[in-house]
Amino acid sequence: MIRENIEAVKARIARASARCGRDPHSVKLVCVTKNVPVDGIEEVLALGVEDIGESRVQEAVLKHGRIGTRAVWHLIGHLQTNKVRGAPAIFSLIHSLDSERLAKAVDSEARTGGKVQDALVEVNISGESQKYGLRPEDVPDFIDTLTSFSNLRVVGLMGIAPIVSRPEHARPYFRTLKEIFDAAGAGRMPNVEMKYLSMGMSQDFEVAIEEGANIVRIGTAIFGE
Ligand SMILES: *Cc1c(COP(=O)(O)O)cnc(C)c1O
Repeated sequence: MIRENIEAVKARIARASARCGRDPHSVKLVCVTKNVPVDGIEEVLALGVEDIGESRVQEAVLKHGRIGTRAVWHLIGHLQTNKVRGAPAIFSLIHSLDSERLAKAVDSEARTGGKVQDALVEVNISGESQKYGLRPEDVPDFIDTLTSFSNLRVVGLMGIAPIVSRPEHARPYFRTLKEIFDAAGAGRMPNVEMKYLSMGMSQDFEVAIEEGANIVRIGTAIFGE
């Protein structure tokens, strides 16, 4: 089943890319394996998936212990400042940078590990108070404050659309994030390079690709509910 699901998701990514004249290989599929056991991760790696997304540091550390660098690890869930330890050691990309305090902790932990940590700034595009991320209007100033962290590199933005009845209804939220992304890229600061736009999940990834996503994070469409 997982094999068929991955093939179907890849085909849908290719069709969505083609619809807007984009190369399907320019869209990175991050396979979201929160609550999926290590065997499931092994299965998708064997099918050619390289990028694995996890929500929690602790769970990822355990899985990383078994799988290691055979996968490229993404932290997609909210990161608490007191859970940062160990994260830079395993994650290639942290998608959920959302406060200066967190940035400071990540920068410091990355320095200890002798690494420059790539991260995306999470933006609360839905405006729902229970969602994480910066308010859109706060993004430029936030990015400015990050330029002083020498072991942290901002490489793009991440956003989560609200749950809507039809994927099409998520489009305005993705469009807004793309606009913020383009505006932030114009600044040209030393440790900021706007190259990744992480948006789109099982429910809405095709619309996200049409609106410019180049990373999609997909769990349910591959592993089921
Ligand atoms: C769980 C999760 C996903 C994957 O969602 P699906 O609907 O299962 O594809 C993507 N992004 C984030 C931040 C998540 O927490």
